[in-house]
Amino acid sequence: MTRKIAGSKRKNTNSALKHVAHAALPSKFGKFTIHGFAGHGPMEEAVALVRGKLNGKAAPLVRIHSQCLTGDVLASLRCDCRAQLEYSLKKIAKAPSGILLYLPQEGRGIGLMNKLRAYELQDGGMDTVEANEELGFAADAREYDFSAQVLKQLGARKIRLLSNNPEKVRQLESSGIRVVQRVPCQPRVSRISRAYMATKKEKMGHILGGL
Ligand SMILES: [Zn+2]
Repeated sequence: MTRKIAGSKRKNTNSALKHVAHAALPSKFGKFTIHGFAGHGPMEEAVALVRGKLNGKAAPLVRIHSQCLTGDVLASLRCDCRAQLEYSLKKIAKAPSGILLYLPQEGRGIGLMNKLRAYELQDGGMDTVEANEELGFAADAREYDFSAQVLKQLGARKIRLLSNNPEKVRQLESSGIRVVQRVPCQPRVSRISRAYMATKKEKMGHILGGL
């Protein structure tokens, strides 16, 4: 799990990616089509919520969201995940075309149980980066090559990316996706999430204003 992001030699060709199914998915944010994709590894599954024409003139608005059970489902205020998810779905629903790519990468790739261990360490005074490192994980263990393969399979080689994370832009570009614009993803967040976000800004290079 501590595998380095840069320079990964893992084979992940398009032919390894399986388009499992697609179906209509009306939601409170709008009408989407939901697609399921599976790769080789256990972490290599993704759900894509899609709207509009993805390979048209205007680049689709894309958000890559990593699963956060505590935030997305249980409405935790320890992080800004749910706020970002809802903000992204609203923006994508208003755009001519877009994709929300949802990845089962709990706790920035460390898994749910380890994320809870990291929370325990944070309650003892560590920040999110220190806690992950204490548990033996890189601050951000995700890889974006799989996401890039899914985007390509959907026909979205040129995108506008909703993200505050310049590393995400670099990773996608090195995997063959052209990010023509980075669109800030900054919903209003609670006071409780702010310390966590300040750490993302100071230690992980996220571009966040007004903290
Ligand atoms: Zn979260």
